[in-house]
Amino acid sequence: MSKTLKAMDARWREISWEQAVRAASLPVARLLEKSLDGGALDFEEGLALTAVEGDDLLALVKVADELRRRTVGDCITYVVNRNLNFTNVCIVGCAFCGFSRGPNSPDAYFHSTDTLVAKSVEAVERGATEVCIQGGLPKDLQGGYYADLLRAIKTRLPELHIHAYSPMEIVYGTEKTGMALHDYLRMLKEAGLGSIPGTAAEILDDAVRRELSPNKLKVRQWIDVIRAAHGLGIPSTCTMMYGHTERPEHWVRHLLLLREIQKDTGGFTEFVPLGFIHSQTTLFQTGRARAGSSLREDLVVHALARLLLHGYIPNIQVSWVKLGFEGSLACLQAGANDFSGTLMEESISKSAGADFGEYVSPGEFRALIRTIGRTPAERTTTYHIRKVFEHADAEERLPLERMSRMPVLAATGHAPITGVGY
Ligand code: SF4
Repeated sequence: MSKTLKAMDARWREISWEQAVRAASLPVARLLEKSLDGGALDFEEGLALTAVEGDDLLALVKVADELRRRTVGDCITYVVNRNLNFTNVCIVGCAFCGFSRGPNSPDAYFHSTDTLVAKSVEAVERGATEVCIQGGLPKDLQGGYYADLLRAIKTRLPELHIHAYSPMEIVYGTEKTGMALHDYLRMLKEAGLGSIPGTAAEILDDAVRRELSPNKLKVRQWIDVIRAAHGLGIPSTCTMMYGHTERPEHWVRHLLLLREIQKDTGGFTEFVPLGFIHSQTTLFQTGRARAGSSLREDLVVHALARLLLHGYIPNIQVSWVKLGFEGSLACLQAGANDFSGTLMEESISKSAGADFGEYVSPGEFRALIRTIGRTPAERTTTYHIRKVFEHADAEERLPLERMSRMPVLAATGHAPITGVGY
């Protein structure tokens, strides 16, 4: 257990949010009280909260947890889903990416549509309500590929929710087809697109984006795709990658931008902070980025998101693949309320003999959730509750033998593999 968490843990459990606010410094206590009273924090106020330490950090976390309780109650939700990363071939060259390969790389792959449909069928048979589809951007991708894949899956599985294609892929689709953005999105919706992962956001600041990936879509394009999708009734998530070259002011501006979009569209289902996984990336290896986020930063980002988005985006999701179980459970007590998806992909690899994979069974999720005294609930992609698990059942067991190995997994994880991506 990390030092920060260990030091906080004893008091964290015992202290009430009222006591925590009383123990905080006056300036921080005032900001927290404003937020508790429903006030919208501005840039300067948000920035002040990014610097908290000690009692002020504890107060921020406790108040974020209280706002979570008032907004969505005590259930921690999750979705049973499967990731379909159809290819790792990509021409974009993001410096933070450890996943993409050149077309001639020995480990480059491109799954056939038949394989992806079969994986979807298998997922539904195992209880999935969603497939999440993202991939690299190969140079020779056919213009109709994205829509054709949706149609192929929907023809076989009309009830399955397809959560697919980052704004970067949507823009690539418009370039490949020559279609206008609205027309292209409408076509994808008619082909079966249910919602969009709000990935490829990284930090919504063009100067930071130039450092991370000069070939990637610009802030304006990301916003245009998201607003157009929401306008057509296609909801999306929203994300932020932190722990690389950015500074705290970028977190605050990013969150306030998301809040502005949500005020207009109401189309974001949740916000997902994504810690930078550094070790196998050019960005880190060339000394241009720090080695991911600290636990203090993880807690501050999740808690700050709860405060800045309060009243606008009700759900804050943890990315367990990036945070590990311990970090996820900590952030689920610091303003977050959703455990994301089971991902499933590797349950199948595991069944085939693999030792370990990127998979947590629904029973393991539920057992983990109960360790912090909360109630698990399975949801759909759009946060309709399918079942609240008031009492433990026989499927619930802690993945103890794997907990210590999660940081290894997180260190090798990559955007599309993780289910929510960057
Ligand atoms: S993050 Fe996505 S777009 Fe960027 S290089 Fe990796 S696969 Fe390509």
